Amino acid sequence: MCQTPIPIDTQSHSLTVISGPTAVGKGTVVRELIKRHPQVYLSISGTTRSPRPGEEDGVHYHFLSDEEFSQRIQAGDFLEWARVHGQHRYGTLVQPIREVLAAGRPALLEIDLDGARQVKKTMPEAQFIFLAPPSWDELVNRLEGRGTESADEMTRRLATAREELAAQEEFDVVIVNDEVNRTVEELASVMHLT
Ligand code: 5GP
Repeated sequence: MCQTPIPIDTQSHSLTVISGPTAVGKGTVVRELIKRHPQVYLSISGTTRSPRPGEEDGVHYHFLSDEEFSQRIQAGDFLEWARVHGQHRYGTLVQPIREVLAAGRPALLEIDLDGARQVKKTMPEAQFIFLAPPSWDELVNRLEGRGTESADEMTRRLATAREELAAQEEFDVVIVNDEVNRTVEELASVMHLT
């Protein structure tokens, strides 16, 4: 995986990385944060997974073929990349992040634990936030309630979630997603957004 330091000679402390287990509500929290603080640039990842209904290329993700993804790894286009839930590859494209940080705009990456660990190696000045569920049972409830995953996929995601929860002390801040509004306020405060 990409672990070569990538020089980004800008205000790296305005880069925030948020991670957390499946179904903890990262998507909802991040969407709400961007709605309230549109100055924050939310990174659009590259992925080899197919678009879900309603997802647009270049808006939700850059949807790449396996071959394109491999080429972009070779070209050094990713700040980090990882295979998530043992399936598809996802990666942060470095160039937009460079440009956004150079322009003095805060940037936010919503990526998995593996990706966060890679960014910690290349950009340790970034702020690392872990979004945690109020409890394990609540996480299982949220995943079941979402009803979008097959039984196999749920088992796989919960196995990953156990590993991810065990790694939360590697992060600078742990925020418990108990209620979206409160969680977004805490996240904004930690990111020093006004
Ligand atoms: P989904 O397929 O549900 O959109 O995303 C699955 C997981 O992929 C999410 O939990 C998210 O954290 C992770 N992910 C999305 N983009 C990236 C990325 O650029 N890099 C890494 N390492 N993980 C990502």
